[in-house]
Amino acid sequence: MKKNDSIELTIDDLGTDGQGIGHAEGLAVFVDGALPGETVRAKVIALKKSYAVGKLDEVLVPSPMRTCPPCRVFGKCGGCTLQHLSYAAQLQFKQNHVQGCMQRIGKLDIPVNFPLPARHEYRYRNKAAFPVRQDGEQVDIGFYAAHSHRIVDVDDCKIEPSDFQIVMSQLRVWIVKNKIPVYDEKSHTGLLRHIVLRENKAGEIMLVLCINGEDIPNRSHLIMLFEFVLPQVKSIMLNCNTKRTNTILGDRSICIYGKDHLFETLGGLEFKVGPNTFLQVNPAQTEALYNTLFRMLALTPSDTVLDLYCGVGTISLAAARRARRVIGIEIVGEAVEAAKFNAKLNDIETAEFFAGDTAELLPSVLERENVSAVIVDPPRKGLDEAVVRMLASSGVSRIGYVSCNPSTLARDLALFKELGYNAGIVQPVDMFPQTTHVECVTVLSKANG
Ligand code: SAH
Repeated sequence: MKKNDSIELTIDDLGTDGQGIGHAEGLAVFVDGALPGETVRAKVIALKKSYAVGKLDEVLVPSPMRTCPPCRVFGKCGGCTLQHLSYAAQLQFKQNHVQGCMQRIGKLDIPVNFPLPARHEYRYRNKAAFPVRQDGEQVDIGFYAAHSHRIVDVDDCKIEPSDFQIVMSQLRVWIVKNKIPVYDEKSHTGLLRHIVLRENKAGEIMLVLCINGEDIPNRSHLIMLFEFVLPQVKSIMLNCNTKRTNTILGDRSICIYGKDHLFETLGGLEFKVGPNTFLQVNPAQTEALYNTLFRMLALTPSDTVLDLYCGVGTISLAAARRARRVIGIEIVGEAVEAAKFNAKLNDIETAEFFAGDTAELLPSVLERENVSAVIVDPPRKGLDEAVVRMLASSGVSRIGYVSCNPSTLARDLALFKELGYNAGIVQPVDMFPQTTHVECVTVLSKANG
Protein backbone atom coordinates (compact mmCIF):
# COMPACT_ATOMS: atom_id res chain seq x y z
CA MET A 1 0.00 0.00 0.00
CA LYS A 2 1.37 3.42 -0.97
CA LYS A 3 0.06 6.95 -0.58
CA ASN A 4 -2.50 7.82 -3.31
CA ASP A 5 -3.27 4.13 -3.96
CA SER A 6 -6.90 3.33 -4.54
CA ILE A 7 -7.79 0.34 -2.34
CA GLU A 8 -10.83 -1.84 -1.80
CA LEU A 9 -11.64 -2.27 1.86
CA THR A 10 -14.11 -4.08 4.08
CA ILE A 11 -15.12 -1.95 7.05
CA ASP A 12 -15.45 -3.86 10.30
CA ASP A 13 -15.66 -1.22 13.03
CA LEU A 14 -16.50 2.39 13.83
CA GLY A 15 -13.85 4.56 15.53
CA THR A 16 -14.52 6.92 18.43
CA ASP A 17 -14.99 9.87 16.07
CA GLY A 18 -17.33 7.89 13.84
CA GLN A 19 -14.76 6.95 11.17
CA GLY A 20 -15.11 3.56 9.48
CA ILE A 21 -12.18 1.24 10.26
CA GLY A 22 -10.98 -1.48 7.87
CA HIS A 23 -7.74 -3.40 7.60
CA ALA A 24 -5.28 -3.66 4.73
CA GLU A 25 -1.86 -5.32 4.81
CA GLY A 26 -2.08 -5.58 8.61
CA LEU A 27 -2.75 -1.86 9.06
CA ALA A 28 -5.91 -0.24 10.38
CA VAL A 29 -7.28 2.14 7.75
CA PHE A 30 -9.57 4.97 8.94
CA VAL A 31 -12.15 6.14 6.40
CA ASP A 32 -14.54 9.00 7.21
CA GLY A 33 -18.06 8.27 6.00
CA ALA A 34 -17.67 4.47 5.72
CA LEU A 35 -19.76 2.14 7.89
CA PRO A 36 -19.22 -1.32 9.40
CA GLY A 37 -20.28 -4.11 7.06
CA GLU A 38 -19.56 -2.03 3.96
CA THR A 39 -17.12 -2.67 1.16
CA VAL A 40 -15.70 0.62 -0.05
CA ARG A 41 -13.14 2.02 -2.45
CA ALA A 42 -10.86 4.56 -0.77
CA LYS A 43 -7.81 6.57 -1.71
CA VAL A 44 -4.89 6.33 0.73
CA ILE A 45 -4.20 9.95 1.81
CA ALA A 46 -1.91 9.28 4.77
CA LEU A 47 0.30 6.32 5.58
CA LYS A 48 1.83 6.05 9.05
CA LYS A 49 3.70 3.24 10.84
CA SER A 50 0.69 1.88 12.67
CA TYR A 51 -2.29 3.09 10.64
CA ALA A 52 -3.45 4.65 7.38
CA VAL A 53 -6.12 7.19 6.46
CA GLY A 54 -8.30 6.68 3.42
CA LYS A 55 -10.64 9.09 1.63
CA LEU A 56 -13.93 7.49 0.71
CA ASP A 57 -14.35 7.37 -3.08
CA GLU A 58 -17.18 4.90 -3.52
CA VAL A 59 -19.36 2.64 -1.42
CA LEU A 60 -19.35 -0.66 -3.33
CA VAL A 61 -21.58 -2.63 -0.93
CA PRO A 62 -23.62 -0.34 1.37
CA SER A 63 -24.63 -1.20 4.93
CA PRO A 64 -28.36 -1.71 5.53
CA MET A 65 -27.86 0.81 8.37
CA ARG A 66 -26.81 3.54 5.92
CA THR A 67 -29.20 6.48 5.68
CA CYS A 68 -29.27 9.59 3.54
CA PRO A 69 -27.94 12.57 5.59
CA PRO A 70 -30.43 15.45 5.40
CA CYS A 71 -27.72 18.10 5.87
CA ARG A 72 -26.27 19.79 2.80
CA VAL A 73 -22.80 20.10 4.38
CA PHE A 74 -22.59 16.61 5.92
CA GLY A 75 -19.00 15.39 5.58
CA LYS A 76 -17.68 18.96 5.27
CA CYS A 77 -18.81 20.41 8.61
CA GLY A 78 -17.07 18.87 11.62
CA GLY A 79 -20.33 18.68 13.57
CA CYS A 80 -22.56 15.66 13.00
CA THR A 81 -20.37 12.73 12.06
CA LEU A 82 -23.06 10.01 12.29
CA GLN A 83 -25.83 11.42 10.10
CA HIS A 84 -25.27 8.64 7.56
CA LEU A 85 -26.03 5.97 10.18
CA SER A 86 -29.58 4.99 11.18
CA TYR A 87 -30.57 6.24 14.62
CA ALA A 88 -30.95 2.71 16.05
CA ALA A 89 -27.41 1.90 14.88
CA GLN A 90 -26.08 5.16 16.39
CA LEU A 91 -27.46 4.07 19.77
CA GLN A 92 -25.89 0.63 19.36
CA PHE A 93 -22.56 2.30 18.53
CA LYS A 94 -22.80 4.40 21.70
CA GLN A 95 -23.55 1.38 23.89
CA ASN A 96 -20.57 -0.49 22.40
CA HIS A 97 -18.36 2.56 22.83
CA VAL A 98 -19.24 2.98 26.53
CA GLN A 99 -18.86 -0.77 27.16
CA GLY A 100 -15.49 -0.69 25.36
CA CYS A 101 -14.26 2.17 27.58
CA MET A 102 -15.31 0.28 30.73
CA GLN A 103 -13.43 -2.84 29.65
CA ARG A 104 -10.36 -1.29 28.00
CA ILE A 105 -9.71 1.75 30.20
CA GLY A 106 -11.28 0.74 33.52
CA LYS A 107 -10.74 -3.04 33.23
CA LEU A 108 -14.29 -3.15 34.59
CA ASP A 109 -16.95 -5.69 33.95
CA ILE A 110 -19.92 -3.36 34.51
CA PRO A 111 -23.14 -3.91 32.56
CA VAL A 112 -23.87 -1.04 30.21
CA ASN A 113 -27.53 -0.60 29.27
CA PHE A 114 -28.81 0.32 25.82
CA PRO A 115 -28.86 4.15 25.65
CA LEU A 116 -32.04 6.01 26.42
CA PRO A 117 -33.00 7.31 22.97
CA ALA A 118 -33.55 11.01 22.35
CA ARG A 119 -37.10 12.12 21.75
CA HIS A 120 -35.98 14.20 18.76
CA GLU A 121 -33.30 12.96 16.37
CA TYR A 122 -33.00 16.45 14.81
CA ARG A 123 -33.73 20.05 15.91
CA TYR A 124 -32.95 19.13 19.51
CA ARG A 125 -30.42 21.82 20.47
CA ASN A 126 -31.28 25.07 22.20
CA LYS A 127 -28.02 26.87 21.53
CA ALA A 128 -25.61 27.53 18.69
CA ALA A 129 -22.36 29.49 18.40
CA PHE A 130 -21.44 30.37 14.83
CA PRO A 131 -18.02 31.77 13.99
CA VAL A 132 -18.06 34.52 11.32
CA ARG A 133 -15.27 34.92 8.75
CA GLN A 134 -14.69 36.95 5.60
CA ASP A 135 -13.75 34.80 2.61
CA GLY A 136 -12.99 37.20 -0.26
CA GLU A 137 -16.27 38.90 -1.07
CA GLN A 138 -18.27 36.35 0.88
CA VAL A 139 -19.10 36.30 4.57
CA ASP A 140 -19.08 32.77 5.95
CA ILE A 141 -21.15 31.99 9.02
CA GLY A 142 -21.23 28.39 10.11
CA PHE A 143 -19.18 25.76 11.84
CA TYR A 144 -15.58 24.67 11.79
CA ALA A 145 -14.60 21.88 9.41
CA ALA A 146 -13.27 18.75 11.15
CA HIS A 147 -9.85 19.31 12.82
CA SER A 148 -9.60 22.80 11.33
CA HIS A 149 -10.30 26.51 11.81
CA ARG A 150 -11.73 26.73 8.28
CA ILE A 151 -15.40 27.66 8.33
CA VAL A 152 -18.07 25.76 6.47
CA ASP A 153 -20.92 28.13 5.66
CA VAL A 154 -24.15 26.68 7.07
CA ASP A 155 -27.58 28.08 6.30
CA ASP A 156 -29.70 25.46 8.04
CA CYS A 157 -28.17 23.28 10.72
CA LYS A 158 -30.53 20.33 11.14
CA ILE A 159 -29.84 19.83 14.85
CA GLU A 160 -30.65 23.48 15.63
CA PRO A 161 -34.15 24.98 15.85
CA SER A 162 -35.42 25.98 12.40
CA ASP A 163 -36.01 29.55 13.63
CA PHE A 164 -32.23 29.98 13.85
CA GLN A 165 -32.11 29.70 10.07
CA ILE A 166 -34.41 32.75 9.74
CA VAL A 167 -32.44 34.72 12.34
CA MET A 168 -29.25 33.98 10.44
CA SER A 169 -30.63 35.08 7.09
CA GLN A 170 -31.78 38.39 8.61
CA LEU A 171 -28.34 38.85 10.13
CA ARG A 172 -26.67 38.24 6.80
CA VAL A 173 -28.75 41.10 5.37
CA TRP A 174 -27.62 43.43 8.17
CA ILE A 175 -23.94 42.42 7.78
CA VAL A 176 -23.88 42.95 4.01
CA LYS A 177 -26.04 46.14 3.91
CA ASN A 178 -24.01 47.81 6.67
CA LYS A 179 -20.62 46.46 5.52
CA ILE A 180 -19.97 45.14 9.02
CA PRO A 181 -16.23 44.43 9.32
CA VAL A 182 -15.76 40.74 10.04
CA TYR A 183 -13.15 39.62 12.58
CA ASP A 184 -9.85 38.23 11.33
CA GLU A 185 -8.18 35.81 13.74
CA LYS A 186 -4.65 36.27 12.40
CA SER A 187 -4.48 40.07 12.45
CA HIS A 188 -6.94 40.46 15.37
CA THR A 189 -8.81 43.15 13.38
CA GLY A 190 -12.44 43.53 12.35
CA LEU A 191 -15.54 43.61 14.54
CA LEU A 192 -17.95 40.68 14.35
CA ARG A 193 -16.45 37.45 15.78
CA HIS A 194 -19.26 35.04 16.64
CA ILE A 195 -23.02 34.83 16.66
CA VAL A 196 -24.55 32.99 19.58
CA LEU A 197 -28.21 32.00 19.55
CA ARG A 198 -30.27 30.49 22.35
CA GLU A 199 -33.88 29.41 22.30
CA ASN A 200 -36.01 28.34 25.24
CA LYS A 201 -38.79 25.76 25.14
CA ALA A 202 -41.35 28.53 24.70
CA GLY A 203 -39.62 29.43 21.40
CA GLU A 204 -38.17 32.74 22.64
CA ILE A 205 -34.77 33.60 21.18
CA MET A 206 -31.74 35.45 22.49
CA LEU A 207 -29.29 36.76 19.89
CA VAL A 208 -25.77 37.58 21.03
CA LEU A 209 -23.29 39.34 18.74
CA CYS A 210 -19.76 38.73 20.00
CA ILE A 211 -17.68 41.69 18.92
CA ASN A 212 -14.08 42.81 19.02
CA GLY A 213 -15.09 46.31 20.15
CA GLU A 214 -17.69 48.22 22.14
CA ASP A 215 -20.54 48.87 19.69
CA ILE A 216 -21.93 48.01 16.26
CA PRO A 217 -22.83 50.28 13.36
CA ASN A 218 -26.52 50.85 12.63
CA ARG A 219 -28.09 49.20 15.68
CA SER A 220 -31.50 50.47 14.60
CA HIS A 221 -31.39 48.58 11.30
CA LEU A 222 -30.52 45.38 13.14
CA ILE A 223 -33.34 45.84 15.62
CA MET A 224 -35.83 46.68 12.88
CA LEU A 225 -34.97 43.44 11.07
CA PHE A 226 -36.12 41.46 14.10
CA GLU A 227 -38.73 43.62 15.80
CA PHE A 228 -41.44 43.06 13.20
CA VAL A 229 -40.25 40.08 11.20
CA LEU A 230 -39.28 37.79 14.09
CA PRO A 231 -41.08 38.83 17.28
CA GLN A 232 -39.85 35.61 18.94
CA VAL A 233 -36.43 37.33 19.23
CA LYS A 234 -36.88 38.71 22.74
CA SER A 235 -33.32 39.72 23.45
CA ILE A 236 -30.40 41.16 21.47
CA MET A 237 -27.10 41.44 23.30
CA LEU A 238 -23.65 42.68 22.39
CA ASN A 239 -20.86 40.70 24.01
CA CYS A 240 -17.55 42.53 24.06
CA ASN A 241 -14.56 40.27 23.58
CA THR A 242 -11.49 42.25 22.56
CA LYS A 243 -8.95 39.63 23.62
CA ARG A 244 -6.83 37.51 21.29
CA THR A 245 -8.44 34.24 22.30
CA ASN A 246 -10.36 31.23 21.05
CA THR A 247 -12.92 31.70 23.82
CA ILE A 248 -16.18 32.80 22.24
CA LEU A 249 -17.69 35.01 24.91
CA GLY A 250 -16.03 37.88 26.74
CA ASP A 251 -16.96 38.94 30.27
CA ARG A 252 -19.15 41.93 29.44
CA SER A 253 -22.55 41.92 27.72
CA ILE A 254 -24.79 44.89 26.87
CA CYS A 255 -28.47 44.53 26.11
CA ILE A 256 -29.47 46.59 23.05
CA TYR A 257 -32.99 45.27 22.56
CA GLY A 258 -35.59 43.57 24.76
CA LYS A 259 -34.48 41.77 27.92
CA ASP A 260 -30.99 40.69 29.00
CA HIS A 261 -32.17 37.16 29.81
CA LEU A 262 -34.65 34.41 28.99
CA PHE A 263 -36.23 31.86 31.29
CA GLU A 264 -36.09 28.12 30.66
CA THR A 265 -38.17 25.46 32.38
CA LEU A 266 -36.66 22.11 33.29
CA GLY A 267 -38.56 19.48 35.24
CA GLY A 268 -41.14 22.08 36.29
CA LEU A 269 -38.47 24.48 37.63
CA GLU A 270 -37.54 27.84 36.13
CA PHE A 271 -34.01 28.94 35.32
CA LYS A 272 -32.70 32.34 34.28
CA VAL A 273 -30.55 32.19 31.13
CA GLY A 274 -28.05 34.88 30.13
CA PRO A 275 -25.44 34.90 27.33
CA ASN A 276 -22.86 33.11 29.52
CA THR A 277 -25.15 30.65 31.33
CA PHE A 278 -24.20 26.99 30.99
CA LEU A 279 -27.23 24.78 30.42
CA GLN A 280 -27.37 21.36 28.82
CA VAL A 281 -28.06 21.96 25.11
CA ASN A 282 -30.81 19.36 24.72
CA PRO A 283 -33.60 20.40 27.09
CA ALA A 284 -35.93 17.44 26.43
CA GLN A 285 -33.16 14.94 27.13
CA THR A 286 -31.85 16.90 30.12
CA GLU A 287 -35.08 16.07 31.91
CA ALA A 288 -34.66 12.40 30.93
CA LEU A 289 -31.04 12.50 32.16
CA TYR A 290 -31.93 14.01 35.53
CA ASN A 291 -34.91 11.67 35.99
CA THR A 292 -32.66 8.69 35.26
CA LEU A 293 -30.17 9.95 37.83
CA PHE A 294 -32.84 10.46 40.50
CA ARG A 295 -34.43 7.08 39.82
CA MET A 296 -31.07 5.31 40.13
CA LEU A 297 -30.01 7.32 43.18
CA ALA A 298 -33.39 6.82 44.90
CA LEU A 299 -33.33 10.05 46.90
CA THR A 300 -35.61 10.23 49.95
CA PRO A 301 -36.92 13.21 51.97
CA SER A 302 -34.37 12.47 54.68
CA ASP A 303 -31.32 12.79 52.38
CA THR A 304 -28.69 15.52 52.57
CA VAL A 305 -27.28 15.76 49.07
CA LEU A 306 -24.02 17.23 47.85
CA ASP A 307 -24.14 18.34 44.18
CA LEU A 308 -20.58 18.83 42.93
CA TYR A 309 -19.94 20.77 39.68
CA CYS A 310 -23.47 22.14 39.99
CA GLY A 311 -23.44 24.90 37.32
CA VAL A 312 -26.52 27.11 37.73
CA GLY A 313 -28.11 24.57 40.07
CA THR A 314 -30.28 22.62 37.65
CA ILE A 315 -29.60 19.24 39.28
CA SER A 316 -29.38 20.71 42.79
CA LEU A 317 -32.81 22.34 42.69
CA ALA A 318 -34.46 19.27 41.18
CA ALA A 319 -32.77 17.20 43.93
CA ALA A 320 -33.95 19.68 46.59
CA ARG A 321 -37.52 18.76 45.73
CA ARG A 322 -36.76 15.14 46.58
CA ALA A 323 -34.42 15.53 49.55
CA ARG A 324 -34.15 17.31 52.89
CA ARG A 325 -31.27 19.58 51.92
CA VAL A 326 -28.86 20.15 49.02
CA ILE A 327 -25.42 21.76 48.95
CA GLY A 328 -24.05 22.74 45.55
CA ILE A 329 -20.40 23.48 44.70
CA GLU A 330 -19.33 25.19 41.47
CA ILE A 331 -16.11 26.92 40.42
CA VAL A 332 -17.66 29.72 38.31
CA GLY A 333 -18.79 32.49 40.68
CA GLU A 334 -21.35 33.84 38.23
CA ALA A 335 -22.99 30.41 37.95
CA VAL A 336 -23.21 30.19 41.75
CA GLU A 337 -24.93 33.60 41.84
CA ALA A 338 -27.34 32.32 39.18
CA ALA A 339 -27.95 29.14 41.21
CA LYS A 340 -28.84 31.23 44.27
CA PHE A 341 -31.13 33.38 42.13
CA ASN A 342 -32.78 30.26 40.67
CA ALA A 343 -33.36 28.83 44.16
CA LYS A 344 -35.25 32.01 45.13
CA LEU A 345 -37.11 32.06 41.81
CA ASN A 346 -38.45 28.59 42.58
CA ASP A 347 -39.11 29.23 46.30
CA ILE A 348 -36.55 26.64 47.31
CA GLU A 349 -35.01 27.39 50.68
CA THR A 350 -33.29 24.07 51.25
CA ALA A 351 -30.48 24.54 48.71
CA GLU A 352 -27.19 26.29 49.48
CA PHE A 353 -24.45 27.08 46.99
CA PHE A 354 -20.73 27.68 47.36
CA ALA A 355 -18.25 29.04 44.83
CA GLY A 356 -14.87 27.34 44.59
CA ASP A 357 -12.84 24.36 43.46
CA THR A 358 -14.46 21.08 44.50
CA ALA A 359 -11.13 19.65 45.70
CA GLU A 360 -10.64 22.65 48.01
CA LEU A 361 -14.16 23.00 49.42
CA LEU A 362 -15.00 19.32 49.75
CA PRO A 363 -13.11 18.43 52.98
CA SER A 364 -14.79 21.12 55.11
CA VAL A 365 -18.26 20.43 53.68
CA LEU A 366 -17.90 16.70 54.32
CA GLU A 367 -16.78 17.40 57.87
CA ARG A 368 -19.53 19.91 58.58
CA GLU A 369 -22.48 18.14 57.00
CA ASN A 370 -23.96 14.72 57.43
CA VAL A 371 -24.02 13.98 53.68
CA SER A 372 -25.99 10.87 52.69
CA ALA A 373 -25.74 11.11 48.88
CA VAL A 374 -23.37 12.82 46.47
CA ILE A 375 -23.95 13.80 42.85
CA VAL A 376 -21.01 14.63 40.58
CA ASP A 377 -21.32 16.06 37.05
CA PRO A 378 -17.75 17.06 36.15
CA PRO A 379 -16.45 18.46 32.85
CA ARG A 380 -14.92 16.14 30.21
CA LYS A 381 -11.68 15.66 32.12
CA GLY A 382 -13.57 13.85 34.87
CA LEU A 383 -12.83 13.95 38.59
CA ASP A 384 -9.53 14.95 40.18
CA GLU A 385 -7.97 11.91 41.81
CA ALA A 386 -8.01 13.81 45.12
CA VAL A 387 -11.81 14.26 44.85
CA VAL A 388 -12.34 10.51 44.28
CA ARG A 389 -10.18 9.73 47.31
CA MET A 390 -11.97 12.27 49.52
CA LEU A 391 -15.39 10.94 48.55
CA ALA A 392 -14.35 7.34 49.12
CA SER A 393 -12.81 8.05 52.50
CA SER A 394 -15.92 10.00 53.60
CA GLY A 395 -17.79 6.71 53.61
CA VAL A 396 -20.88 8.25 51.96
CA SER A 397 -23.27 5.45 51.04
CA ARG A 398 -24.09 6.41 47.43
CA ILE A 399 -22.59 8.56 44.70
CA GLY A 400 -24.42 9.43 41.49
CA TYR A 401 -22.02 10.12 38.62
CA VAL A 402 -23.20 12.02 35.52
CA SER A 403 -20.51 11.96 32.84
CA CYS A 404 -20.12 13.45 29.36
CA ASN A 405 -16.97 11.42 28.69
CA PRO A 406 -17.01 7.61 28.99
CA SER A 407 -13.18 7.42 28.97
CA THR A 408 -12.69 9.52 32.11
CA LEU A 409 -15.77 7.90 33.67
CA ALA A 410 -14.14 4.46 33.23
CA ARG A 411 -10.87 5.74 34.73
CA ASP A 412 -12.67 7.24 37.75
CA LEU A 413 -14.86 4.15 38.30
CA ALA A 414 -11.71 2.00 38.34
CA LEU A 415 -10.22 4.12 41.12
CA PHE A 416 -13.51 4.10 43.04
CA LYS A 417 -13.50 0.31 42.78
CA GLU A 418 -10.00 0.13 44.25
CA LEU A 419 -11.28 2.27 47.12
CA GLY A 420 -14.29 0.06 47.82
CA TYR A 421 -17.06 1.67 45.73
CA ASN A 422 -18.79 -0.29 42.98
CA ALA A 423 -21.00 0.98 40.17
CA GLY A 424 -24.07 -1.17 39.59
CA ILE A 425 -24.93 -0.39 36.02
CA VAL A 426 -24.06 2.34 33.51
CA GLN A 427 -27.03 3.95 31.77
CA PRO A 428 -26.07 5.96 28.67
CA VAL A 429 -28.50 8.75 27.75
CA ASP A 430 -28.41 10.07 24.21
CA MET A 431 -28.33 13.85 24.42
CA PHE A 432 -26.59 14.37 21.08
CA PRO A 433 -28.10 12.40 18.17
CA GLN A 434 -26.08 12.45 14.90
CA THR A 435 -22.84 12.90 16.87
CA THR A 436 -20.58 10.43 18.67
CA HIS A 437 -21.07 12.16 22.05
CA VAL A 438 -22.84 10.28 24.79
CA GLU A 439 -23.81 11.12 28.36
CA CYS A 440 -23.81 8.41 31.05
CA VAL A 441 -25.33 8.01 34.50
CA THR A 442 -24.20 5.52 37.11
CA VAL A 443 -24.58 5.13 40.85
CA LEU A 444 -21.75 3.89 43.05
CA SER A 445 -22.31 2.32 46.40
CA LYS A 446 -19.98 1.17 49.10
CA ALA A 447 -19.10 -2.50 48.77
CA ASN A 448 -20.57 -4.53 51.68
CA GLY A 449 -22.05 -1.32 52.98
N1 SAH B 1 -24.47 20.07 36.73
C1 SAH B 1 -24.58 21.19 35.83
C2 SAH B 1 -23.27 21.58 35.16
C3 SAH B 1 -22.37 20.49 34.68
S1 SAH B 1 -21.04 21.05 33.65
C4 SAH B 1 -25.67 20.93 34.80
O1 SAH B 1 -26.18 19.82 34.68
O2 SAH B 1 -26.04 21.87 34.09
C5 SAH B 1 -19.67 20.99 34.71
C6 SAH B 1 -19.56 22.18 35.65
O3 SAH B 1 -18.41 21.99 36.45
C7 SAH B 1 -19.37 23.53 34.98
O4 SAH B 1 -20.36 24.41 35.44
C8 SAH B 1 -17.97 23.99 35.43
O5 SAH B 1 -17.87 25.37 35.61
C9 SAH B 1 -17.82 23.24 36.73
N2 SAH B 1 -16.44 22.99 37.22
C10 SAH B 1 -15.34 22.72 36.47
N3 SAH B 1 -14.29 22.47 37.26
C11 SAH B 1 -14.71 22.59 38.54
C12 SAH B 1 -14.07 22.44 39.80
N4 SAH B 1 -12.78 22.12 39.88
N5 SAH B 1 -14.81 22.62 40.91
C13 SAH B 1 -16.12 22.94 40.83
N6 SAH B 1 -16.78 23.10 39.65
C14 SAH B 1 -16.09 22.92 38.51
